[in-house]
Amino acid sequence: MLIVMRQDASQKQVDEVVSAVESKGCKARSIPGGDRVSIAVLFNKGALDEVWFQDLPGVKQAIAVTRPYKLVSRETKPDGTRIQVGNVTIGDGRMVIMAGPCAVESESRAMAIAESVKQTGADMFRGGAFKPRTSPYSFQGLGEEGLKILAKVRETFEMPVITEVMDLAYFDMVEDYADIIQIGTRNMQNFSLLRRAGQAKKPIFLKRGMSATVDEWLMAAEYIMAEGNPEVILCERGVRTFVRHSRNTLDLSAVPVVQKESHLPIMVDPSHATGFRDQVMPLARAAAAANANGLMIEVHNEPEKATSDGAQSLYPKQFETLCRQIRAIEKILKETDGS
Ligand code: PEP
Ligand code: MN
Repeated sequence: MLIVMRQDASQKQVDEVVSAVESKGCKARSIPGGDRVSIAVLFNKGALDEVWFQDLPGVKQAIAVTRPYKLVSRETKPDGTRIQVGNVTIGDGRMVIMAGPCAVESESRAMAIAESVKQTGADMFRGGAFKPRTSPYSFQGLGEEGLKILAKVRETFEMPVITEVMDLAYFDMVEDYADIIQIGTRNMQNFSLLRRAGQAKKPIFLKRGMSATVDEWLMAAEYIMAEGNPEVILCERGVRTFVRHSRNTLDLSAVPVVQKESHLPIMVDPSHATGFRDQVMPLARAAAAANANGLMIEVHNEPEKATSDGAQSLYPKQFETLCRQIRAIEKILKETDGS
């Protein structure tokens, strides 16, 4: 249920509606909106009746939310969510480009890649300090040392940084260093991690589970929002299919579907979706044409020597070309948008 207050509703009237919601054993959560306050009713055990709320003073309308996800849904918040991270805005119509290596491998290498991607068009730097690896014998990341290197990148190049948190034990540490906290595909339904992310003071970048439906993915985002963190960025990173020509299959149709269903920004990661650098550039261009809110791209200055995901990492020159192409596609979309 969503209770939409009148534009001239007083704070006292809002408080009375919150009390009425709580008296039914539910939780009330204010939704920041343009010119009026809306209150989402959460954690109801059974069906709620609109008449309980619609005649309270200051209430314009009580609307049943038909989707299983409530806070995430566009029914609850028609305007797209914008997320401000340093001087970068996600969700304002300009594609945000996050780029960097799969893993932070050493300070000198991270700094060299950061300098290059910053010069050629990245808005944010990505790099894993805790790496979810299929094999326990593969490089697992530098841990806190990697986070410190990311902090140095941020300071030196004035670029926000995004990095993954893999488990609860290191959440506080990652939250201290990161500007955006990434939850990877393997943890999309790690509900205790999602709950902790909901209490974080930083935006959460929630990758789609490799076999998750859009509904399951949006419900995972709902876990984060239900705990009180409104800043969630979704990322389509491919789903597992029967094909063998690419690592995963990029589900670009998720972009318009998510944009219709949810007000949250959606970005695309063509690197993990494909696994091969020659597929990354065409699909990144396609994601821009599909009007995604941004891209996450793996870039490495010596991909042959990368500790992980070298085969899908772009060379700096390719990244430079890609950024130019993305901005050109963006321009065409703006110039030809008749809606
Ligand atoms: C990553 O971005 O480094 C990563 C491991 O991605 P995913 O969770 O999508 O596999
Ligand atoms: Mn990777």
